[in-house]
Amino acid sequence: ASTRTAAAIAVEEGALAHNYHPLPVVVETGDGAWVTDVEGNRYLDCLAAYSAVNFGHGSPRLLDAARAQLDRVTLTSRAFHNDRLGPFAAALAGLVDADLVLPMNTGAEAVESAIKVARAWGYRVKGVPEGRATIIVADGNFHGRTTTIVSFSGDPEARDGFGPYTPGFVSVPYGDADAIEAAITDDTVAVLLEPIQGEAGVIVPPASYLPAVRAITAARNVLLVADEIQSGLGRTGSTLACDLVGVKPDLITLGKALGGGIVPVSAVVGRRDVLGVLRPGEHGSTFGGNPLAAAVGLEVVRMLETGEYQERAASLGARLRKAIDPLVGSGVVAVRSAGLWFGIDVDPAVGTGREVCEALLRRGVLAKDTHGSTIRLAPPLVVSGDDLDWAAEQLHAVLAR
Ligand code: PLP
Repeated sequence: ASTRTAAAIAVEEGALAHNYHPLPVVVETGDGAWVTDVEGNRYLDCLAAYSAVNFGHGSPRLLDAARAQLDRVTLTSRAFHNDRLGPFAAALAGLVDADLVLPMNTGAEAVESAIKVARAWGYRVKGVPEGRATIIVADGNFHGRTTTIVSFSGDPEARDGFGPYTPGFVSVPYGDADAIEAAITDDTVAVLLEPIQGEAGVIVPPASYLPAVRAITAARNVLLVADEIQSGLGRTGSTLACDLVGVKPDLITLGKALGGGIVPVSAVVGRRDVLGVLRPGEHGSTFGGNPLAAAVGLEVVRMLETGEYQERAASLGARLRKAIDPLVGSGVVAVRSAGLWFGIDVDPAVGTGREVCEALLRRGVLAKDTHGSTIRLAPPLVVSGDDLDWAAEQLHAVLAR
């Protein structure tokens, strides 16, 4: 790394907890699907902040919405109403065909909120004895980093050393609806799943899985909670990954792209008879539903209402898939994708996922490894087809054997 990059990294290293291991690039500016580092080098951003930047860096529409709101009011707390939150919640509910919205900030907070709501529903509506509520989750899950959420993670790196763990969760193999049915007891209040597992490496379950889980949970009076924080809001070629298989969950968690890459915005959305169990004073967040977040979130919803970005994800994803598939068997072990979201298992003979990402970085492509030998691609949905073709050429140059 050259002097400016090395100096910037040294400042970070001296002052930051080492909970990440970033690639050695220091981003200074971003524009659409591209970012520029402190040396003036340009990179195609094929991670998009884990899909939080679905609309690209510096989206004029989103920046305008944010700027306008900066000049009005940015934070009121929910002690009072603000004139942006209602329109945002109504538009978001309309976008995903939900009744109610519970606004939060980060993804992990939305998942924590959904867990609280599911438990409250279990005690107050289903009649589960107090303190006994159980939630079924899937092996390989990633729902965030809080103490309760890592309690049901199967990833030793995420979990080990952070106990004591929150009880009340049972984990079963992902993609196996029978395993869920077998795990349900009278105390089960919810099944919590990623419709496509993101951090696990873009694991797409069999098409019959979610419909089967929906049928089982409906029949057994158990809530289906879909964590669409990474899969939702256009990434997979539809507004929700659940839409791809015609499944309507009872609760959905959204985050990442909901804040347009500008502010952290998350939400639990769902049925009135479920989210409606919360009573005033039982749950909240100082920043959740703030007018700046709501103004940006409303513009995000408006951008998704036309279907334009969903269509881009589908058509660009098909184009990239065609370009990458020939690598399978020569440098790549397997490719999985949904819309413009890819998990590529690299042949260990080529190198680790980290080494491949470092080689891509040297060629001007930003991507991130996950679980050792998998690299994940999730470019902003505003990326051009030509830019994607170029990125595929770089993948061939680095991976082909
Ligand atoms: N849920 C899913 C499916 C995610 O992919 C993530 C983040 O990667 C989270 C929850 C946590 O979101 P946050 O990092 O905003 O807390």
